[in-house]
Amino acid sequence: MKRVGAHVSASGGVENAPLNAEKIGAKAFALFTKNQKRWAAKPLTEKNIEKFKANCEKMGVSLEHILPHDSYLINLGHPEEEKLQKSRDAFLDEMQRCEQLGLKLLNFHPGSHLKQISEEECCEKVAESINLALAETKDVIAVIENTAGQGSNIGYKFEHLAAIIEKVEDKSRIGICIDTCHAFAAGYDFRTKEACEKSWKEFDEVVGFKYLKAMHLNDAKSEFESRVDRHHSLGQGNIGEACFEYIMNSPHFEEIPMVLETIDPEIWDKEIEWLYSLAK
Ligand SMILES: [Zn+2]
Ligand SMILES: [Zn+2]
Repeated sequence: MKRVGAHVSASGGVENAPLNAEKIGAKAFALFTKNQKRWAAKPLTEKNIEKFKANCEKMGVSLEHILPHDSYLINLGHPEEEKLQKSRDAFLDEMQRCEQLGLKLLNFHPGSHLKQISEEECCEKVAESINLALAETKDVIAVIENTAGQGSNIGYKFEHLAAIIEKVEDKSRIGICIDTCHAFAAGYDFRTKEACEKSWKEFDEVVGFKYLKAMHLNDAKSEFESRVDRHHSLGQGNIGEACFEYIMNSPHFEEIPMVLETIDPEIWDKEIEWLYSLAK
């Protein structure tokens, strides 16, 4: 089945995220396991962990269908050694928090070259950062999100994602999350069924569906190919409905968390309902 949810608030403690997800009828969800705008975080307590797991079980979402997102400060492709190290330390901490919570995935944006190194070098640094984190953890899969290519972010071309995967040693612990808004802004069209077929065929050829571990379902305020990252509620932006109808009816998107990061949390329940209504 399709596992649709949203990136819900974990304010007051990670254990609140499943409660918030339940309220909107989610069958998957995303969360930050710490404040995403800060480097430091209080360690998770036994109580946090226990309650989190109990609440997930109560709402019936299994730990594989939860997609934690790392801090926005982390840049695993940072061109400067000292800052790269700071990011790598923070990323390892994020991976370990996932392990503590029993989570299997960690979603992150690959990195930015800050106009100091080439895109290719940046991809190599990201891959090296992932290898280091995987070596010190056990189960968690590092899930790279494609980007809109805003500023100096890499990851807006499927080729970037493939280049990173190629250099990751343990292929069983690397995956991809495709954000529909980011892909559209980066020049992958989803506005018609034919456009969806073409874009997803390209994804399969360059990266491969076997690496697709999660989705971010967003419409876009951004224009096509604008390299601007502006999300919109489903059906209200420049992508339109065909994109989501395609996803909800394709076998390639079974049993992976598909998470809304749309701009109006008040209508997430309606958006989830609408998505399920598209499945034939
Ligand atoms: Zn996203
Ligand atoms: Zn975004």
